[in-house]
Amino acid sequence: MPLNFDLVMLGDIVNTSGVQRDGWIAITGEHIAAQGQGAPPPANAVHDHSGCLLLPGLVDGHMHTGSVIGFAGIEGATSSAAAGGVTTCVDMPYDVPKPVTDAEILADKIAWVERTAHVDVALYGTIRPKGGVPAIAELAASGVSAFKLSTYQYDPVRFPRIDHPTMVAAFTEIARTGRPVAIHNEDQELVESLTTEARAAGHTAPIMHARTRPPLAETLADLEIFEIGLATGAHVHMAHSSLARGFDIAKTFRAMGGQATGETCIHYLCMTEADLERLGGRGKCNPPFRTAAEVEALWAQLEADEIAYVSTDHAPHPLDRKINPDIFACGAGLIGLQSFAPLFATLLDERGLSLSLLATYGAEHSAKLHGLFPRKGTLAVGSDADIAVLARQDWAFDETLIQDRPELRWSAYHGRKMRFRVASTYLRGRKIWDGQTVLAAPGTGRFVKRS
Ligand SMILES: [Zn+2]
Repeated sequence: MPLNFDLVMLGDIVNTSGVQRDGWIAITGEHIAAQGQGAPPPANAVHDHSGCLLLPGLVDGHMHTGSVIGFAGIEGATSSAAAGGVTTCVDMPYDVPKPVTDAEILADKIAWVERTAHVDVALYGTIRPKGGVPAIAELAASGVSAFKLSTYQYDPVRFPRIDHPTMVAAFTEIARTGRPVAIHNEDQELVESLTTEARAAGHTAPIMHARTRPPLAETLADLEIFEIGLATGAHVHMAHSSLARGFDIAKTFRAMGGQATGETCIHYLCMTEADLERLGGRGKCNPPFRTAAEVEALWAQLEADEIAYVSTDHAPHPLDRKINPDIFACGAGLIGLQSFAPLFATLLDERGLSLSLLATYGAEHSAKLHGLFPRKGTLAVGSDADIAVLARQDWAFDETLIQDRPELRWSAYHGRKMRFRVASTYLRGRKIWDGQTVLAAPGTGRFVKRS
C-alpha cells in the first residue's frame, strides 16, 4: 500500500449485496485502490460524503445520443449523464445521417466521443439492411460492445427493419464475434396496419399510440428473434420489454438452450397508459407505456432476477417534436439520463426495496452484458473510480435544470417527487458533477471497448 492515497471518499457504500454504513473508498490515479469501513487511511484529499450513498457510477446500456443531430448530440447527452450519476453511456448506432455500419463510421464516432464526451462511452454497431453482414467482424474488432438490429422500421436509413434472411445471416456472424445482439422488438405489419386504420378514422389522441402498438406487436417480435437466436447460436437480447411476458418468453428460450435475455427501461417500471394520456407526445415512446398491472408484473420479474438490466432508452427529441396534438406526428422517445439515478432510487425506496438493486440493475449487470465489467459497474479494488453520490432529499424533478441543449430541457418526470438527488459524480477519480454544475470538460470521457 502506498503511504498516501490520492483521495479518500467517505459515505455509505452501496454494492450488489447491500449497504455498508460508514465506509470509505480510497483512490489512486483513476482507480479504486482500497476500501473499508470505519477510520479511513491517510490520503492527500478527503471528500466527506458521510450520510450519502456511494454507488458505482451507473452504466446505462441503452440510449440514442445521435438520432436527431448526429454525433454532435454526444456532448449534451453525456453532460446530462454526468449530472444524473451515469458514468458510462452505451450508445445506440442509429445516428443521422450515418448509422454505425462499418469500421470507418465507428472510428469517426469514437473520435467524436474522445473530443466531446463528458463521461465514458461504449458503442453499439449495426448493419445496413442490404449487404451489411460482412462489416460485422470489423465492427467487433474495433471494439463495439454489442450489435443492434430491429424488426421494425422507424426510418429506412437510420433505423431500418432487417428482414428475416438477413437477420439469420447477421445473427450467425454476430455469434462468431461473441457479442450480444440487441433487437428493437415490435412487429412491423401489425403496427403499420393498426396505425393506418387509426389515422384513417381520425383517431389521433395520445392513447392511440398504445392501442396501435398492442402487447402482441411486441411478443410476436420476441418469438421470432429468439427463434432465430436458437437456430444461429447468437445471444439475442430484447432491447426493451415493456411486458412481463417478454421475460417469460426469454426464460422459456433459455430453458431450450438459447442465450435469450432482455432489459426493461425505467419508464416501464413506473409509467402507465394514464401517463400517456396526461403527457401526450411527451409520453410517447416505443414500445408504449402499458397498464398499472403490467408495471407490477415487471417489478416481480426484476425481483425474480429475470431482467438483465434497466436502461433509459434516452432519445432526445427537441420539445417542438413532442407537442403535436396528433400523437402520430410526435417523435418517439423520452429524455431520461439526468433523472435515471434519482428516479430508480426513489422507485426502490417507495417500494421498500434495497438500493443495492440500483447497483445491480443500473450498473453491474449492464457492465457485464456489454463486456465492461469489472472495469465498470462495480466499486471493486482495481475498478475505474466511477462513483455516483446520492443524497437523500425530498425534491421535485425540475426539467429546467437538465444539462443539455435548451430544446432538450423537458422531461416526462417534470414535477415528479424524488427522494434522492445526485450530489456528486466521479469519473475515474475526478469529480465531474458537484450537484449543480458539470465540471468535466468535453473530451473528459473516453471510448471504452468491450474486453
Ligand atoms: Zn432505443
